[in-house]
Amino acid sequence: MNNIFNYTREKLEKEFVELGYKKFMSSQVLDWLYKKRNYNIDDYSNIKKENREFLKSQYSFDLIKIEKVEEDTDVKKFLFRLLDGQKIEAVLMYHGYGLSLCVSSQVGCNMGCKFCESGRLKKVRNLETYEMVEQVLLISDYVKGRIDSIVVMGIGEPFDNYDNVINFLSIINDDKLLAIGARHITVSTCGLVPKIKEYASFPLQVNLAISLHAPNDEIRKKIMPIANAYSINEVIDAVKYYSNKTNRRVAMEYILLDGINDSVKCANELADLLNGVNAYVNLIPYNETSHIEYKASSEHQIKVFFDTLKQRGVDVTTRRRFGSKISAACGQLRSKEI
Ligand code: SF4
Repeated sequence: MNNIFNYTREKLEKEFVELGYKKFMSSQVLDWLYKKRNYNIDDYSNIKKENREFLKSQYSFDLIKIEKVEEDTDVKKFLFRLLDGQKIEAVLMYHGYGLSLCVSSQVGCNMGCKFCESGRLKKVRNLETYEMVEQVLLISDYVKGRIDSIVVMGIGEPFDNYDNVINFLSIINDDKLLAIGARHITVSTCGLVPKIKEYASFPLQVNLAISLHAPNDEIRKKIMPIANAYSINEVIDAVKYYSNKTNRRVAMEYILLDGINDSVKCANELADLLNGVNAYVNLIPYNETSHIEYKASSEHQIKVFFDTLKQRGVDVTTRRRFGSKISAACGQLRSKEI
């Protein structure tokens, strides 16, 4: 049975009509789900009982479950249990401008980035669209607040689950459903070049972030196995293709690892690499975990790296550190549970 949260509005309308029901019933159902946030079909008083029975026979309304929540002042981390017992996590961050949610796209990840806790546990399967939509709905219900922005940057490589992620983006952006503005949605990839090019043709104005984390192939190959499949120049060419086609600026994510990629030489190399690219750099202080040998760069080194990029004319920001008291590194809560 197909889960109701896998459906875009257009697809549900079309299916209802094909099955001999009124298109209007789709707006009624979606209104209960996304606006009234009532997931119990028996309460849908404006839908005839026989039609409710049809809905029950045709669609699953099952929800994943919040199993655990860890909290810090500006962040909440959620561990979800999926219907088959698998676990994933999502992280809610409180920014001055609203709530930002980082969602997972796969159970585990096969990309094997060496600094990443999620990548230590191999991919079990892709998430279906409904499992991503429900992360947003259930967390929004839990905090009784509207989620203002979404980053697909949790466990998994989103472009390794491309079709489900694209479907998810269409649903959360739809103004009759979750109405999250396209400019407030970002998908992050470790650099699957063909998919970056495909994403350039996706009609919504959603953002792209690249997990770059190194200024050259030599360092990138040491910390990110994907660099053996696509060279850094191929990634940069794909980014140029994307930004030429969409006119959008790309975020280059760069985790600073002590003694690995945080030297002044690296900063200069990064500035050279990004010369002429419509992109900005987002420096990320590393969240150390006990299983991984890498250490975070010092505050001083982060500042030197930042200043070097600035002096070279690169647009650069440093990501705020969230939730140092909880299992803040992506995948840490899940791997602790497993
Ligand atoms: S950083 Fe992202 S792509 Fe790399 S292993 Fe972790 S979850 Fe996968």
